[in-house]
Amino acid sequence: MNFVHLFLYIVANTFMLCPFCREKDTSVVDSRPAEEGTAVRRRRLCTCHGGMRFTTFERVQFQELSVIKSNSKREPFDRDKVSKSIRIATRKRPIDTQAIDNFVSKIIMKIEGLGESEIPTSTIGKFIMEGLQYLDTVAYVRYASVYKNFKEAKDFEQFVGNLDEKKS
Ligand SMILES: [Zn+2]
Repeated sequence: MNFVHLFLYIVANTFMLCPFCREKDTSVVDSRPAEEGTAVRRRRLCTCHGGMRFTTFERVQFQELSVIKSNSKREPFDRDKVSKSIRIATRKRPIDTQAIDNFVSKIIMKIEGLGESEIPTSTIGKFIMEGLQYLDTVAYVRYASVYKNFKEAKDFEQFVGNLDEKKS
């Protein structure tokens, strides 16, 4: 362990309060790469209640990113919203949880990787749709029906009709 690693080890160990008792003296019991190596997952241990365990994730912080909504209002980019919309679209589909996690990370990396400070929600929707098209057709149609805001049954039928044409 060189000096830098020792320093990081001490920082990792010292500055994370236990979420249960706010105790500062928690320790890292396990660190491993997560989300295809773009994050580090740490299992931590506190001495409270005979050893409460909790998990933290460490990620690169990209520049602050705002989304521009269709009504032109801006709000901070929310990874959880992206993740949630993908999880709703893929709910109960025969897709490996790991594959979904990887997909979510890939979309988020693509969004943040643009290096923009503002991004329209429609672009995010497009990225997710493009990706889902290859991941799972049902999830794709589900997502698209929300994203494209189908107002009538015929909009939906037309969309699915186009999908069949693309396939054949
Ligand atoms: Zn504690």
